[in-house]
Amino acid sequence: MSIHLLPSEVSSQIAAGEVVERPASVVKELIENALDAGARHITITIEGAGQRLVEVADDGSGIPADELALAVTRHATSKLLSAEDLFSIKTLGFRGEALASIGSVARLTITSRHASPDDEDQRGAGGRLRVEAGISTPVEPVGAPVGTVVRVENLFYNLPARLKFLKAEVTERRQIDTLVTRYALAFPHVRFSLRQEGRPALQTSGNRDRREVLASLYGVEMARQMIEVLAKDESAAITGFISPPSLTRSNRREITFFVNGRPVQDSTLTAAVVQGYHSLLMVGRYPLAILFLELPPSTVDVNVHPTKAEVRFREPDRLFSAVQRAVRRVLLAHTPVPEITEQLRWTTPSRQPDPAWQMAGDEDQSTAINHSRSPLDGGLPSPLTASLPGSRAPLLRLIGQIASTYLVAEGPDGLYLIDQHAAHERVLFEKLMAQHGTHEKRENSEKRENVIPSQSLLQPVAVELPPANARLLSEQLPILTHLGFTVEPFGQATFLVRAVPALLAKLDPAAALHVLVEDFEEDETPLQAEIEARITARVCKRAAVKAGQVLSPEEQHALLTDLEACISPRTCPHGRPTMIHLPVDLLERQFGRKGAR
Ligand code: ADP
Ligand code: MG
Repeated sequence: MSIHLLPSEVSSQIAAGEVVERPASVVKELIENALDAGARHITITIEGAGQRLVEVADDGSGIPADELALAVTRHATSKLLSAEDLFSIKTLGFRGEALASIGSVARLTITSRHASPDDEDQRGAGGRLRVEAGISTPVEPVGAPVGTVVRVENLFYNLPARLKFLKAEVTERRQIDTLVTRYALAFPHVRFSLRQEGRPALQTSGNRDRREVLASLYGVEMARQMIEVLAKDESAAITGFISPPSLTRSNRREITFFVNGRPVQDSTLTAAVVQGYHSLLMVGRYPLAILFLELPPSTVDVNVHPTKAEVRFREPDRLFSAVQRAVRRVLLAHTPVPEITEQLRWTTPSRQPDPAWQMAGDEDQSTAINHSRSPLDGGLPSPLTASLPGSRAPLLRLIGQIASTYLVAEGPDGLYLIDQHAAHERVLFEKLMAQHGTHEKRENSEKRENVIPSQSLLQPVAVELPPANARLLSEQLPILTHLGFTVEPFGQATFLVRAVPALLAKLDPAAALHVLVEDFEEDETPLQAEIEARITARVCKRAAVKAGQVLSPEEQHALLTDLEACISPRTCPHGRPTMIHLPVDLLERQFGRKGAR
């Protein structure tokens, strides 16, 4: 075929494909236009999961009738004049592409009436324009209230291939639900109503109460649990909600960001949130978060993606730490050392070592411990000397071991019970991660030494893994070396284990290798740092002293000292508490010395 210019309807369909991927993309563009027009009330109507109809009606400024034809022309916009304006954009739209794109892949009808100040009769000249397959009809005058109604019917009717790629209707509807709810959260002063298939799906009041909107996204109970973030420094204001460590998902999909009112996907910011939870979450679990970042427009380049879903930050590192710090700070304030409250009976039997979790691990443990609450929570009025939720462990004086499972210690403010397995897991985890960290830094300058004691096997053992796990393991061989493994690829999905960490010497090497990769879901692609943390946590779990294991006084002492030196001594790498605290105050109460008269 010789080179030729594409007919315009073909090139515009190609361009449209970048902007309009699915019904939710239409909804997104139309909502953004309404918001840019200053709407206070936006009504969205969906039929046939958005394929048959998307209608967005707003009470914004409207479009003058003589500009309607321009509005549906590609690269026509009222939001931008010069290239410099791109660096000070305050509107959500600016590319002038959405309406033109939608008009080339659907039947588009725009009815609008402009709010002109010199026109007293508000029901005067509105205009209506239809576009089909990119061809628009002349504007006809209609009576209409100030604002705009955009109807998009039969999306992709002229693109059968795209139609086939639409997901099941439930999926598309859920996408739209989530999208509208997120905008409602980002713009709490705007009233949103969404009707799907003739039924109300979302209605917000526009009274600026974000938690109320949150309830429609997650339900009342979850919304109540979400922790509010309010942080500000010179570079950014960060507000929104994050989940407490007890509320998690198996993937990162519920971590969302709005940057200057614009929904943005950014894996680095997502990683910053996850890191903010560092070691408070069980391995493989992720928080929920919806964060709103307000930055000076000049520090964000929004013009990097056709759907404007990605942006570039001028100071990404600074923003990363700002987000991570904001998350960390509110979390620490919400996850104190669990304290025993009066709700716990003294006769409650101590938790038996549970063989199920030693093996399968990682499942949530229900315990009889209540996280201390403030009186404002509606929980028990807290008479306890609230221990501040600082991250460091208090200085502890060892008293001894009970039930071959817990260490008993005295701290400055009462009695501490320490779960020896969880504590040891934490200690090992931080040691291994720290050693690994030094490796990274020295990588280029010095020759590596293996800092983790490793034990060679008398006979190398060949271990075969399922293909997906084998692939993962081959990518992770360098970490395994840091952890004290010597493992070589040995054919397609087989590995030769020559040495294991001394900590794991008692385990069957094949079992050890299996365990390391087992917990990764097949379709998941965690960030490298996270994979390392997860594999390391696995090794620690296996290597840590078990509940039921008698420790010598020296071992008990060493464990306490090591725990005190940890950065996050209060939880194990899977997020369970390592220690619980019985304040002196509580003891006094129980002995009738105080308060009980
Ligand atoms: P962009 O939003 O990038 O400018 P669009 O194709 O989405 O491009 O819209 C083109 C123009 O049409 C906008 O710049 C705006 O002037 C006008 N417009 C579109 N939708 C609305 C609306 N709901 N209310 C007022 N004006 C609108
Ligand atoms: Mg737009």
